[in-house]
Amino acid sequence: MERLRHSDIKYLKGVGPARAELLKKELGISSYYDLLYHFPTHYIDRSKIYTISSLEGDVAMVQVKGRFISMATQGEGAKTRLVALFTDGTGLMEVVWFQRVKAIRQAYHIGEEYILFGKPSIFNGRWSMAHPEIDTLESARAREGLRGVYPLTERLRARGITSRQIGAWVQSILPLLPQRLIDPLPPEILSSYRLMGLADALREVHNPQSTATLEKARLRLKFEELFYLQLNILRYTRQRSQQVEGLPFPRIGHFFNTFYQQCLPFPLTEAQKRVIREIRADMGSGRQMNRLLQGDVGSGKTLVALMCMLIALDNGYQACLMAPTEILAHQHYDTLCELLAPIGINVKLLTGSTTAKARRLIHEQLEDGSLHILIGTHAVIEDKVKWARLGLVIIDEQHRFGVAQRAQLWKKNATPPHVLVMTATPIPRTLAMTVYGDLDVSVIDELPPGRRPVKTLLRYEERRMDVYRGVGQQLRQGRQVYIVYPLIKESEKSDLKSLEEGYELIRDTFRDYRVAYVHGKMRQDEKDFQMSLFVKGEAQILVSTTVIEVGVNVPNATIMVIENAERFGLSQLHQLRGRVGRGAAQSYCILMSKVKLARETRQRLEVMTSTTDGFIVAEADLKMRGPGDLEGTLQSGMPIDLKIANLAHDGQVVELARQAASHVLDLDPSLSLPAHQAAAREMHLLFDKTVDWSKIS
Ligand code: ADP
Ligand code: MG
Repeated sequence: MERLRHSDIKYLKGVGPARAELLKKELGISSYYDLLYHFPTHYIDRSKIYTISSLEGDVAMVQVKGRFISMATQGEGAKTRLVALFTDGTGLMEVVWFQRVKAIRQAYHIGEEYILFGKPSIFNGRWSMAHPEIDTLESARAREGLRGVYPLTERLRARGITSRQIGAWVQSILPLLPQRLIDPLPPEILSSYRLMGLADALREVHNPQSTATLEKARLRLKFEELFYLQLNILRYTRQRSQQVEGLPFPRIGHFFNTFYQQCLPFPLTEAQKRVIREIRADMGSGRQMNRLLQGDVGSGKTLVALMCMLIALDNGYQACLMAPTEILAHQHYDTLCELLAPIGINVKLLTGSTTAKARRLIHEQLEDGSLHILIGTHAVIEDKVKWARLGLVIIDEQHRFGVAQRAQLWKKNATPPHVLVMTATPIPRTLAMTVYGDLDVSVIDELPPGRRPVKTLLRYEERRMDVYRGVGQQLRQGRQVYIVYPLIKESEKSDLKSLEEGYELIRDTFRDYRVAYVHGKMRQDEKDFQMSLFVKGEAQILVSTTVIEVGVNVPNATIMVIENAERFGLSQLHQLRGRVGRGAAQSYCILMSKVKLARETRQRLEVMTSTTDGFIVAEADLKMRGPGDLEGTLQSGMPIDLKIANLAHDGQVVELARQAASHVLDLDPSLSLPAHQAAAREMHLLFDKTVDWSKIS
């Protein structure tokens, strides 16, 4: 194996320096070993031939068998393409090549029988296939049975590298696998989980003998990858709980009690009480708290955060609340100032736009300890900010803060502060165990009383006027309305244009009302001003991009209209929907779409119309889009790219791997027994170069 790791891919026959460069850049493959671990994403049964007339809708890769009846070069220069017509007697298929036109034209002939393998799509009302793999009947015979389809990128395809080519390279490496390969998984794990040996598994995924053996091979490889991940997380967590001391917060005192008895604006929900108890016990335990607080949008996390900060204050420490945006930081600041006014606590706000003078005062007061609570954005973790006694850090809506930023906080004190990360993005169990496997979890699973679930509707363009009538009705009842436009990249001109047009249209339609307008390109003070108009109720309508996505709290708002809803991810839609339904009145979320939606997209949006449960939405999001896509939510948290396991679908394997890793660590906490050294080594190879876990909270 060592040799494979150190064999540069450029020396493999048929690769060479130029393609090696490309493979490295596009797929991260630089050694023989990497290529061996480049697994097929799916498999095609090559004994199955489709007829063109039987193709339907969204098909994956298929094989069709027939003849070319014409072939012609079209276009000129860089736009030259080869267009052929292919028939199998049941229908016609257009076949197109944009590259290597001459070579293709010479290699294949009209009238001869071929098998084409590719992804058909409908183009101009006719089936069409671009850059298929082509076999003669003879060459196809050599390749029956299951065949892996290797992931590629557009650039690789453009350079003529096919899945088949990758497959051939892999085949030439497989014989180099040592006869007696040492299996890095500990023998006791291999036998108690009945896992296939490594060498067999590697041969099998690239050369499946049957569906059943392929499944066993994939299971083994998934298990292994998740096993190292869990081993790493658990080892780190165990070490930390032994080595890192926490600030002891034994007391509940003046601040907490006074607030609880005199200032609480409403009774806490049972879930809020339970979570505060959990956090309090954790901070009182003498260990450092590292806790994730999950609670659906509107479940009242802010109040919990506030009360936890009071516990820190009661024990003579300072506390800090970080928000992902200025708007949110401002809002938290206002809320806290209002709630804490009667108790005389010094609360300050620090953001990018805080003036130098105010900043100086904050720095001073933090260092002399007279500032109790600091609220802010990233600005609070700058190096200049020094604390006398920082005891608790709360990170709101953590997904905007990367792992590295969490790590920053650590450096502030000799004894690290307690850390509470709050999120409204429900994290499915599998992910929680992997990405946040080092955190303890508290869940607020109850909304404050009197809330009515938001009604969610999907509406196409032709019913826009109906939607506006609904909006008008709510406005007449004194309610407020959000209208959100997608602006995926703040630089995209067409998005900005549709936002501006939308704003004009809304202003024209609702002339009796004031419309606030916010987007990411505005100056901060302008944004804040517009936002505050809406928050104070001086503007009844807010037209904006997703800058309002997280945390904004205007209980009087009852309609959330989301334009081009199909362009948002489910979790994002759920976040947006959470901006309404915060008061007692019935609220609505209208998902607008201009276009007729493809089935998949419609099904995705139907998840929203059928449930308001954030966990169901998150699970569905994970299943449909895969963990890497969760809008960067978790990407930043994922320490490595998984090569074969899929967190959305392999929940059970995650559990097994965690169980196994935990078992191994029970026996051998330092992983020093001979049977565990190979696994420990693999784990180090995987992780030590990527993330320094010892610095992460
Ligand atoms: P989130 O969990 O989304 O951050 P917030 O903390 O913004 O939720 O709270 C949402 C709304 O619910 C706020 O208006 C808040 O004042 C209100 N709220 C919080 N806790 C309670 C409670 N126990 N009873 C009634 N309303 C509450
Ligand atoms: Mg919040």
